[in-house]
This record gives sequence, C-alpha cells and structure tokens, in this order.
Amino acid sequence: MLRYAEVAVDAPVSPARTFSYHIPEQLRLQPGQLVWVPFGRRTLQGVVMELAAAPQVAETKAILQAVEPSPLLTPTALTLSRWLSRYYLCSLFDAVALFLPPGFKAQVRSEIRPAALTDAAQSKLKDTTREALATLTEQKGLPEAEFSKLLGKGGLREVNRLVSQGLIRRQVDLPRKRTFRYVSQLFPAALPEDDGTEVTRTYQLPGRQERLLQAVREQGGGYSTTQANKEFGSGVGNALVEKGLLGLEWVRQENPPEILPVLPEESWAAGLAPAAIAAGELTLTRMQADALARIVAALDAPAPSPRTFLLHGVTGSGKTEVYLRAIEHIVKRGQQAIFLVPEIALTPQTVQRVNARFPGQVAVLHSGLTERQKFDQWWKIRDGDYSVVVGPRSALFAPTPDLGLIVLDEEHEWTYKQVDTPPFYHARTAALELAHLTGAGLILGSATPDVESYHHAQSGRYRLLELPYRIRQRDQPALQRAAEAAAKYAVNGPATAAGHSLDLAAAADDGLADVEICDLRLELRQGNRSIFSRALAAALTECIEQGRQAILFLNRRGSAPIVQCRDCGYVVTCSGCAVSLTYHAAESRLRCHRCNARRRPPTRCRQCGSNHIRQLGIGTQRVVEEVEKLLPGIAVERWDADANRGGPSPGERMRRLASGETQVVVGTQLVAKGLDVPAVTLVGVVLADVGLHLPDYRAGERAFGLLCQVAGRAGRGAEPGRVIIQTYNPEHYAIAAAARQDYA
Ligand code: ADP
Ligand code: ZN
Ligand code: ZN
Repeated sequence: MLRYAEVAVDAPVSPARTFSYHIPEQLRLQPGQLVWVPFGRRTLQGVVMELAAAPQVAETKAILQAVEPSPLLTPTALTLSRWLSRYYLCSLFDAVALFLPPGFKAQVRSEIRPAALTDAAQSKLKDTTREALATLTEQKGLPEAEFSKLLGKGGLREVNRLVSQGLIRRQVDLPRKRTFRYVSQLFPAALPEDDGTEVTRTYQLPGRQERLLQAVREQGGGYSTTQANKEFGSGVGNALVEKGLLGLEWVRQENPPEILPVLPEESWAAGLAPAAIAAGELTLTRMQADALARIVAALDAPAPSPRTFLLHGVTGSGKTEVYLRAIEHIVKRGQQAIFLVPEIALTPQTVQRVNARFPGQVAVLHSGLTERQKFDQWWKIRDGDYSVVVGPRSALFAPTPDLGLIVLDEEHEWTYKQVDTPPFYHARTAALELAHLTGAGLILGSATPDVESYHHAQSGRYRLLELPYRIRQRDQPALQRAAEAAAKYAVNGPATAAGHSLDLAAAADDGLADVEICDLRLELRQGNRSIFSRALAAALTECIEQGRQAILFLNRRGSAPIVQCRDCGYVVTCSGCAVSLTYHAAESRLRCHRCNARRRPPTRCRQCGSNHIRQLGIGTQRVVEEVEKLLPGIAVERWDADANRGGPSPGERMRRLASGETQVVVGTQLVAKGLDVPAVTLVGVVLADVGLHLPDYRAGERAFGLLCQVAGRAGRGAEPGRVIIQTYNPEHYAIAAAARQDYA
C-alpha cells in the first residue's frame, strides 16, 4: 500500500521541493488532490504530487484532510508544474496554483483551548503565563493570535511549549466556506489493510452523526454544510469528515447560468463583423488554404510530429481566419482548443469572432466575471462543456480534458510574460512545453514575430507559414462573386479557383497603407516649431475635410524621458553601455539604467554643437490641444490610461469612433491593438523616437513592431490608407524598416 504522499505545500520553499506526509487510513488520496496539511505551526494547503511507499524522512505528520474528493490536477498538469517550478525557480505550490480553480485559497483558524492543569505544572509557570492561562480558562478558548498576545514577548514560542507540555490544546478549524457541501465517501466502511484484505469496520456513532450520515447518503448529490449545521448541529459533519465517513466538496451548481462572454464592447464589435465572416463562409485565399493544410496535416499525423507553427502575416492578412479553421478541425474531432490573446479588453474584436464562429461553445476568461462565475466556468471547462477557451496568458492552464490545439495570437506581446507574481512564466514558453506534453498543436501568430521566435522558425524548430498580403475589404464583393462563379465551373474545386484570383489581386498590391517618414529636424530648420510637420498637418486637414477619420499615436510605453538634440537627432547615451540615458527630473540628472552612472544634462549637442538639446516627450493632452488649434470645432478624443479613468467607457469610446462621431483619436498603446475601423484612413505617429531609445536591447525590435501595428490601423476599409511617421531619426533601422513594413 502506498501510505505516504509527497506534497507541494503552500509555503515559500525551494523549487521542486515536496514534503512527505503519511496518509491516515480513512483517507483515500490520489496525485493531484488538494489537501490540508500541518506545516510547522500552521495548517496549509498542499497538492499531492505523488504517492509513495516510503517517506523521505524518518518521522512524518499525517495529512489532515482532502479539500476535494477528486484530484484537481491531471497528471499532465502535475508534470508541467514540476517543469515550471524548476524552469522559473518558483515553489512547486506556486506552479500548481496556476491550475487550481479560482477562489481555492482559504485560510485556517487556529483556536487555543485550555487543558487540565495540575497544581504541580501551574507552580512552574511564569506569572504572565499563569495569568494568560486563567483568562483562557475563563473564556473557554481563544484564537491563537489573541492568546499568544496575552503571553507577551516570545508568545508564539511559549504557545508551542505549552502545547507540547499538554497544558493547552490547539484546535485547527479548517475553513468551511459557504461553497462547501458534504458528500458520501466512496469507501465509507471497508478499508483495505496493509496486506490487501478488506476489513469492514463498524463505527459506534453518536445519534446525530448517524442521522446526518444517513441523510447525506440518501441525498446522493451532497448536502450543504450550512444545512447540515442547521439540522444536526455544528461540528457533527466535521466529526464525520475526520472519521473519513464523509467527504467535503466544493459546491458547484448543477446547471450554472450561462456565462455569456459579455464585454462592454460587445455591441459595437458585433456590429462590425459581417455575417459571412461569423459563419465562416469565406473562401480562403491560396496562401491561407496552404497554411491551413499544413497545420491540419501536422495535427492529423501520428505523434510525435512537429506541431509548432509560426504564422507570420501582416495585419489583415487573414491569420485569424486560419486559426478559426484549425480550431474547427480539432473541435470536430471532439478536442478542445485554447486561444490566447494578449489582453481580453484590448482584443474585443478577436474574441467576438471566436464567439461568433463557435456559438455557445466558447469560455471567455475575462476579469469582469465574478469569483463565483469564474469558479463555475472552471468546472464547466473541466467537464468538457466548452470547445474553446479564450483568455489572457493564465487561460493556458485551463483544465481542458483533451487539448488539441493552442493558438497564441500576437505572440510577440510582452503581456504574455508574467512579471508581478511568481511564477514569472512566459506563456509562449509554457505553451511549448504543454503542447509537447499533450501532443497538442501550437500556432504562434504575429505580424511582427519576436525575433527569437522567428529565429526558431528559420532554424526549423518551428514551422514557418507566411501570409504576406493584406486581404482588402474593397475587393471582397467582387471576389465573392468571382468565387461563386468559379464554384459553378471550376474543375479543381471552388477554393483553389477563387483563391487564385484573390491572391493575384493581392499580389499586385500588398494592400498595406502607404507609409511616409517625416524628418522633424528639417521642419525645425525650416522654421516649423509645431509638433505637427507640415505634411501631417496637411494630411490631417484633408482627411477631415473628406469626412474620414484619423488616429494620432504617441508611444508612451515605459516613457523613459531621453535627452535629444532637435537639430541633428543625437541622443545622449551612456559612454560605458551605449544605451540611452534617462532623465530624472527630481535630481535633474541623467542616469544610466544599466550601470547606474550619473551625469549632468548637456547644454550643447556633442555631435553638432546646437543648444537645441533637451528632454523629449509630449503628452496626449498637448497633442489634443494642437489638433484643436489646427482644426477648430473638431471632435477629438483622447485614448490613454488617464482618459480611461473617469471618462467614457472603452465600449462607448469605441462606439463613437465606429459610428464616425469621433473624428480624431489621440492615443497611446491602447489604440495600436486590434482596432479595425474602416473609415480611419490616416494614422500619424507624432514622435516615433520615444520607444526607440528605451534602455533595453529589445528597444529597436519593439519600436519596429509597434510602428507596424500602428500603421496597420490605417486603410482597413475600402479607401487606401496613409501613415505618416514623424521622427528625428529617419535613418534608424527600426523606423526605416517599419516604413517599408519590412519585417525580414
Ligand atoms: P489578421 O488576423 O491577420 O489581422 P484577419 O483574419 O482578421 O487577419 O483578416 C482580415 C480581414 O479579412 C477580416 O475582416 C477577415 O474577415 C477578412 N478575411 C479573412 N480571410 C478572408 C478571405 N479568405 N476572404 C475574404 N475576406 C477574408
Ligand atoms: Zn545635435
Ligand atoms: Zn551605463
């Protein structure tokens, strides 16, 4: 018999470390179960990692109780937890916690009760202790924290001494939240002995316990703890749990109300998605069909076959359509898919499309759900009630019973890396490991893949799929007709014939907006001191006169203030590290964020001698004012973190933009993502240099990605788009490449 368990305990211990406990004979445990264990002086939660015939240490404590009668973690989850713990150097419990249902955290209460005191024992005690014990006896018991306070300094140690001398008793009250119910144990009376024979035990139970036990058994489905306490007296149920005759289980509703993936943005997003797209009736382009065929072939090939794909395609090239078809494929064979997005609130349109394609089968894990809804949703996912789980990085750990595919959209995004609490995992790295363990496919998609991912794709570790052309909305009606006509006559099947014509149309013109770079040094030299170049001012005026809409973008990520020469573009860098120095206003010093060197801000440019050298940075408010000066009476709206507080909701702002009420949006990163408004024909990047000089070796890569994304916002509709990037560094490789949309 495996009478011992190795447990990952909820304590800050070293990576991969487990502790040995013995399993009391009335408990049945399996790996993956959440349990209560004594740990030092506390009672903590832990997860059984494995059962063992022998412990790691000579003396073991007993597991107190199981939180749930069934394992919450699958063997795969346990294996992945071990890997996460080693790879990211977090405690094993921090890793397993990722897989536990929302709201599993609970705390125990520890009560101190008086025990029989002999006079002999009394006489040896300190005065404070004797007084504390008197109070304790009078009160018939106190919470441990309170009692140890009475003992004064070193109280906790004194409590332990008194417990070990048998002068007081510590009673641990395990949490019985309203969400618990009693269920009958699977093996209530027959327990196998060490030699394997089963011995039937008869318990002499007090009347109330006997009656509750009967009631629970008759009920079948479980008996809520509150009800049991009311009818049979408090403590009766718990006594039965301690004897192993009843189990405790979290209450989950038999038929939880449908959790609609309602986002504040839903109304507008739905309005933007044409019905054909929702229904998946589009004819794939040849490139899309090709990419899909390769993915499907890999998914259908016997394991182990390489199943990680990098889908590289400019914004609007039809990546999402490919994801949806691949998901369809694995859903049809009864498996589930996990669809990760950088942030639910910023990708309402993607979420909406997944939802529309798989109505009623999608679980959207978003922060707007109540704890209770999240909890019920977790169980529904585990029961296989959903085919697709959409969510941010943590959705990777959703308990899908048979995972077939993971999609990681916008794979270059840094929100996939957890930075606030351990484990500091990257969802892409963890997804690779999970896909490897389960045999699921993995599609990483981006217009501007992380350089590391692209390298893996080139070196063959991932398989590279390219969608180089944007699908133009303006072609669709005509192409739809072409597809229908082709369907009637084509010998090769409709998909290929229609797909070809679409690809030909796309190849002639990649469908991307025209990007111009505007050199701000020249503007200054020619006397223009406004934050808008003459080109941008003219384009903005023309765009508005024609009744179209514009987005003005300002990079504020990290927003490290740098000092730059406005005549030649020179940026003050650290002489030791070659990263740009950051201006610290409080001490009016420049500081290197790598080596910590400090220096006074220069008054003259070291490159050209100009004294136009100063801290660079413009706020969104300033840009809004300039727009209003340029085009009086215009409807301009600010989209940034500040405007988020107090202003109209994101949904309302999006509605105003989609309906054309808002003419110009001035925004930060918030406007760069996933926005698809056909009437936006002009995008202006007010100052491209800000992100470029962040003291980070990835600064160039990220600035490039961001500029490409922003540029992708223009010309999504029937009208061609125009993008103007203003900069003091037109030669910088990241800006020059972004202007050409040249990822390679
Ligand atoms: P991405 O995910 O690469 O940004 P999407 O999948 O969102 O691209 O496609 C861009 C637009 O083109 C969407 O409006 C989508 O509905 C449409 N689209 C995608 N594939 C096709 C197709 N084969 N035929 C017509 N329109 C398509
Ligand atoms: Zn200069
Ligand atoms: Zn330095």
